[in-house]
Amino acid sequence: MKDARYQLKLRITEIFYSIQGESTRAGEPCVFVRLTGCNLRCTYCDTGYSFYGGEHVTIHNILKEIDKYKCKLVEITGGEPLLQDNTYPLVDILVDNFYKVLIETSGSIKINKLNQHVIKILDIKTPSSQMAHFNLWDNLNDLNNLNDEIKFVIGNKADYDWSKQVITQYGLNKRCKRVLMSPTHGILSPGQLGQWICEDGLDVKLQIQLHKYLNMP
Ligand code: SF4
Repeated sequence: MKDARYQLKLRITEIFYSIQGESTRAGEPCVFVRLTGCNLRCTYCDTGYSFYGGEHVTIHNILKEIDKYKCKLVEITGGEPLLQDNTYPLVDILVDNFYKVLIETSGSIKINKLNQHVIKILDIKTPSSQMAHFNLWDNLNDLNNLNDEIKFVIGNKADYDWSKQVITQYGLNKRCKRVLMSPTHGILSPGQLGQWICEDGLDVKLQIQLHKYLNMP
């Protein structure tokens, strides 16, 4: 009998194939599933178009679309993907079908129900996002230190100093595979962030949003 989960629907903004621009997998081809809706409003958000609208698509049809690209790396993103209950069966089915699944989440929703094989990229919202009060610190206990990554988006020196303190206070390098720092695009130069990291010898990976520099046709 056909698995009933395939008929469950998610609200989707877009599904596309491109080069992964962030995380330790930056530079790799990846299929992106962007879910509609977000409970936050970060000052620097560049995906406001995913807040509203979207189309209700069955998991069956999402899988069909993903399969077209013959790429085994899939990122579930948003908006905030964990706002939709059917994200969980989608992830489970992708994992069962041997996809390597990344999920980008804002850190404002519990991550403990996610399939243990999914690679979580957990944001910790910095003060300049104006959303830091949404950080669910309990989520740090549900990270897998062999797979998962933590991301800070840094808008200024105050964000950097705050993040450095959080890394130490919560021992983040022991809780995840890699701590990432991104400069807020168009606000803080990657070079300036790099200089602060080097001055402190901070154990993090500086990342730029590679996709913004690729200018792919
Ligand atoms: S959590 Fe992500 S999608 Fe939501 S407002 Fe912040 S940057 Fe935008």
